[in-house]
Amino acid sequence: MPKSILHCISCGAEYDSDPFRLTCDADHPPSLLRSVYRAQQMEVKAHLPGLFRYIDWLPVEQILEDAGKPITYESKNLAHHLGLDHLFISFNGYYPERGAQMLTGSFKELEAFSVLAGLPKKHPRTLVIASAGNTGRAFATVCSKHRIPLCLIIPEKNLSALWSKTSFGSEVSLIAVSDGGDYSDAIALGQLMSQLDRFFPEGGAANVARRDGMGLTVVDAAMTLGRIPDHYFQAVGSGTGGIAAWEANLRLLADGRFEERRMKLHLAQNAPFTPMVEAWKAGSRTLFPIGEAEAKASINQVSAQVLTNRNPAYSITGGLYEALVETQGEMYAVTNAASEQARYLFEEFEGIDISPASGVAMAALLQAVEAKKVDRRDHIVLNITSGGIKRMKHDYSLHYLQPLISCSPSKVDVHKVAGQIECNLQCS
Ligand SMILES: [Zn+2]
Repeated sequence: MPKSILHCISCGAEYDSDPFRLTCDADHPPSLLRSVYRAQQMEVKAHLPGLFRYIDWLPVEQILEDAGKPITYESKNLAHHLGLDHLFISFNGYYPERGAQMLTGSFKELEAFSVLAGLPKKHPRTLVIASAGNTGRAFATVCSKHRIPLCLIIPEKNLSALWSKTSFGSEVSLIAVSDGGDYSDAIALGQLMSQLDRFFPEGGAANVARRDGMGLTVVDAAMTLGRIPDHYFQAVGSGTGGIAAWEANLRLLADGRFEERRMKLHLAQNAPFTPMVEAWKAGSRTLFPIGEAEAKASINQVSAQVLTNRNPAYSITGGLYEALVETQGEMYAVTNAASEQARYLFEEFEGIDISPASGVAMAALLQAVEAKKVDRRDHIVLNITSGGIKRMKHDYSLHYLQPLISCSPSKVDVHKVAGQIECNLQCS
């Protein structure tokens, strides 16, 4: 049996593992595929770099050097402040005193290494990634390091998110979406670009390598705790992290060494842009329609821009709605002020800065404690998806990625853009 296969959650069709396959061929409504691994029981390979210690549950055959990994540690000060007996922090980012060395500062590094290690070497087509910031920074850094061609598309207003400890390579072509374009405009341009010859899409939530990389936060937590946690808190934008956490839970159940437990997902969005929270609280599998102008106005008020995906993987078969149903999950809306207050508390009690999105997750935990949705004896994991960025900027002088092209979302000529990128790659 090969290392892994792809299984359609809707119809059960099976496919050979293939980094370019994002959908099932059968005629049914859209469904996610899921990896099924030959190694049901995880054998940790501690000698491999970073997250590759968990290579048994990654759809890759090769490893890439310099990979970071999530760390899980038991909180003392914050736990005491909240009156919790077993609060664990999954920290994704830079916190050298605790051994956290994810130098791009966010858990998007997990998916970048997992997706890129799965691609064939010297592939003739260029990967297209649309990002609000964190994903772009992770992919641009890893692609530069390993000389993998990348077309990265990001809203111009988020350019300051593209920094790295090491310099960027000419393999990375950055397109900035100007004239007030947002994350969804970047995604729309990415879809157009990835349909051209010589380009291909990463696939977002549909890419199993992305989800299986992200799910390693839960795998690392379970390996550290020696059990499946009772509760899991995370902020969500596309919903991918929540789906990945649930899929990791399923793998841990199949592993056979852990007690039967469905970890309750507690997922949060940054108000006023909270489409999944509104749908879930109304018991709706479909998101409520929202006009473009209204969506943009809400998005512009949100401090955690990485959470502002307008087309999340919520309704799709195998998507976030189902993960919430299976885990009897909860969703929370968190204001900018509540996120800011939570970030301040985290830094005070845990000694490291965290991002606005992580503040949203932490504020959801505060809401849950207040509303008694968790018991003080429960085992709780708080996923700090991004942290230590202020500390990175203090400890290192960082490089910033400059756009190759800036273009307005309404006036872009994708063939011309593609030509400029090809030219840039030939020069590299
Ligand atoms: Zn199918």
